[in-house]
Amino acid sequence: MQLRVLFLLLAFLLSNNTYGQSLKPCNTVNSVHNEWVTRFQQRLPIESFLRSSLTLYFPIKIFISGKLHSQSGTISPEKLMDEICHLNKLFKQANISFYLESQPTILSSSTYEGIETEFELGQLLQSYKSTNAIPVYIVENALDACGFNVIHQGINKGIVISSECYKVKGALLAHEIGHFLGLPHTFQGWEGISFDYTLKAPEHWENVKVERADGSNCRNAGDGFCDTAPDYLNLRWSCSDSSKSPIPLVDPMGKSFYSDGSLIMGYSLDPCPNRFSKEQVMTMRAYADEFFPTLFKGDLPLKISQTLPIVNMPMENSQVNLSNGVTFSWEKVPGTYKYIIEVSPMPNMALITSRYEISPDSLSYMTKQLITGRKYFWRLKSLNLYSFCSTVSKICSFSTVLATPSVDLSTSNNSIIINNPISISEGLSLNFSSEKFPLQLILLNNSGQIIFQKNYTQYVGQTNLSISVSAFPPGQYTLSVRSAQKTQSHSVVIMP
Ligand SMILES: [Zn+2]
Repeated sequence: MQLRVLFLLLAFLLSNNTYGQSLKPCNTVNSVHNEWVTRFQQRLPIESFLRSSLTLYFPIKIFISGKLHSQSGTISPEKLMDEICHLNKLFKQANISFYLESQPTILSSSTYEGIETEFELGQLLQSYKSTNAIPVYIVENALDACGFNVIHQGINKGIVISSECYKVKGALLAHEIGHFLGLPHTFQGWEGISFDYTLKAPEHWENVKVERADGSNCRNAGDGFCDTAPDYLNLRWSCSDSSKSPIPLVDPMGKSFYSDGSLIMGYSLDPCPNRFSKEQVMTMRAYADEFFPTLFKGDLPLKISQTLPIVNMPMENSQVNLSNGVTFSWEKVPGTYKYIIEVSPMPNMALITSRYEISPDSLSYMTKQLITGRKYFWRLKSLNLYSFCSTVSKICSFSTVLATPSVDLSTSNNSIIINNPISISEGLSLNFSSEKFPLQLILLNNSGQIIFQKNYTQYVGQTNLSISVSAFPPGQYTLSVRSAQKTQSHSVVIMP
């Protein structure tokens, strides 16, 4: 597959470049429909009264290198949530919001960690496609650029981001999506040009006029927007406290001005870029309307009212008998594609000692891999398709206690309990088919009080061994089964 990547050669990079040593900031030069954008800009004063303020929801599809997306990787699953949360904050001013079309696809082949040639890039795009969402490919390094839109035969194939430039709460992804939605650089026309910025700027570069400081040619020069300051800086730069460029620039008329570092479509370094101008916002929305009418939605596919996970078990400050493991349980969080439980010995979770990944169908998880006689703190995270900013539960605690001496751990066998955790509607189901009778069943609450007791003189068949739990409050219990030969104890959870 022959790909034409619009290529921008930067003459030099600033020494305070915090990105990779040799990476070019952005390889995108123009949008696919550059002429449409130019025509739309001429209509902008009229359009400003016509556009609705309805929130537009865009699906994005992330393809990410497995190495980067591992727990210890630069862009762990949680960091990716943070990144999309930040992306949505940056686009809030445009009333545009992004959600995940499906859970991120892992690029397992090491070939895709670094994209060194256009051929490799073509292979990546050929192997991993999305027609229902904006494709975003995140690799370690792609063609030595921080990011770019891939234009092939007049179609935008997606956005490629190099993780070497990745910075949580940075504007790189927002910048590339700005291009995807039709926006040029604020310094349009200056791409690839080497220039001594202390000198007066020329009237034009090739066919792009240089924008003047007084705004007199703003509609037909530079980026074509009249509410973005002129900008000539085609290299990464740190802005001052007031978001201005560190040095004044001189326009073709000899007038000095400063570039605006707050604009996402410029090249100022994070954390300066944080906004789109009003005209840029209108252009992105109109561009989406024109070229991606089926892609953007007027509403989220799933309305989420509550995304903060609510955890049930173990109950706060409870004591858990470890002989049958600790069972964690929680309320369903809509839109979750993976739950993560984190366990720590520290109340601020600074050190995570255990981490469990759980499929979205499960609302509980049991582990025996904790140590007796310890206090633990834990929280639940929802990796979510539609919600990215508050997907972590509050931190809860529990203590692990030693099993009571009467318990015979060696014969402890979970198969006796058919359902655990137990829902109130179903009740507790037991299988005594391999037990010796007579036996006694005792249910103890977390304080060790007997709350239910029953004796069985002989095997009564499994269908009769269903015990209603509707009278018991949700929580962690110990089920003790005693016969003449042995005593077994099991930790069980009654769900609300
Ligand atoms: Zn760019």
